[in-house]
Amino acid sequence: MWDVIIVGAGPSGLMAGVTLEKDLKVLIIEKNEMPGKKLLASGGGRCNLTHTGELNNLFPRYNARGRYIKRALSLFDNRALMDFFTTKGLSLTVEEGGRVFPASYRARDVLEVFLRELRILNRRPRTGVKLRDFKRSDTGFTLITDGETLKSRYLVLATGGITYPTLGTTGEGHALARATGHELVPTGYGLSSIRTLPGDFKTLQGLSLKAVKFHLYKNSKKFNTYRGDLLFTHEGLSGPGILSASRDFAVGDTLHLDLEPPEDLFRGSRNCLNSMKEIIPASLGAWILENSGIGEKAFFNQLGKKEKTALLKNLSDGVYTILEIGGPFKSMVTTGGVSFKDVSLKTLESRKIPGLYFAGEVLDVDGESGGYNLQAAFSMGHLVAETLNQRLKPLCD
Ligand SMILES: Cc1cc2nc3c(=O)[nH]c(=O)nc-3n(C[C@H](O)[C@H](O)[C@H](O)COP(=O)(O)OP(=O)(O)OC[C@H]3O[C@@H](n4cnc5c(N)ncnc54)[C@H](O)[C@@H]3O)c2cc1C
Repeated sequence: MWDVIIVGAGPSGLMAGVTLEKDLKVLIIEKNEMPGKKLLASGGGRCNLTHTGELNNLFPRYNARGRYIKRALSLFDNRALMDFFTTKGLSLTVEEGGRVFPASYRARDVLEVFLRELRILNRRPRTGVKLRDFKRSDTGFTLITDGETLKSRYLVLATGGITYPTLGTTGEGHALARATGHELVPTGYGLSSIRTLPGDFKTLQGLSLKAVKFHLYKNSKKFNTYRGDLLFTHEGLSGPGILSASRDFAVGDTLHLDLEPPEDLFRGSRNCLNSMKEIIPASLGAWILENSGIGEKAFFNQLGKKEKTALLKNLSDGVYTILEIGGPFKSMVTTGGVSFKDVSLKTLESRKIPGLYFAGEVLDVDGESGGYNLQAAFSMGHLVAETLNQRLKPLCD
């Protein structure tokens, strides 16, 4: 009989695994052939593991759901997380704007911190083991996996959400939670890239722009204004600014990009393209000229009224219609999940099944782009482990 079985070796499960007291018998099972696959893919392999800032500024980063994880974040906040990594020997770097990465910019180094700690604790995740079902009895839990039956006093479901299913996250935790009487907030995709019209960005793919102002229109009415970094993809837009705003988007809405051209941008004897290089990269300038029906070598004072109007509009109010939003492979997080109605906010223990805990993205919480989702997963894993440390204290004394 194990004291605790953790299902899922992602950030939340790994953090729980290293935080549980060393004298406890802890097993982590992971259905992938290796732990932390999504962690390795995070931040494009660079792992934006948290964000700097005061605790009170963290809560609003999870929209209205920040209140659900207030306790988890308060007990193990961004500073505590950064301390955790640095005391384990992982140097961190803070980028302008506050995103925190390992100094090596290698997600593998973040994963290695956990694997090393787990080796010391003799808790290597058992990989290739998929939880199929579980039952609660008076003595604890019986878990049915592919190959064997496991028994534990306490069970932690840290099985993640539904994005990037090839990384192991196929919503099995949700199905098990529902089958055992927990309410599920319908799942969807958050932090999503979008396909747009125009969206023929072959010459712009990979181009990023800093702190762009853009407005969202719904049914031709302005809905909101945002400012954030944008990235052009081969078919539309991505980047932190778009990802974070994407929860407000619907297909058919329009984004209006304001590249904030100064009034006297087209002064002097330079051609249009050279003038635009003052505010945007040449490739984008050329694309805007083409989309305004203007040749690359044209001078502003030689343009007709229609062309001038088109060019100025494309610079200060370029309209992009949203054709598609995210999906399993274009969204970073899952919206929805196990409802906090059925989970104690103090401990993350199920209100339906005593002894069952949830941690991480399997729950109905998601954050903005910027390291907030990993922070949430780490904080929740930490809270569950500390709660269990208290409950199981007699075993450790
Ligand atoms: C491409 C990408 C980039 C991202 N970049 C960032 C970033 O830079 N910063 C940031 O803050 N967030 C980022 N995120 C989001 C972040 O990775 C997740 O929010 C975080 O990984 C959630 O952690 P978790 O422990 O809850 O779940 P996961 O990391 O999803 O881990 C869950 C684990 O459970 C396992 N599992 C599932 N079902 C079973 C089962 N039945 N039996 C056994 N094991 C099971 C899965 O295989 C998986 O390994 C990114 C997400 C993606 C997809």
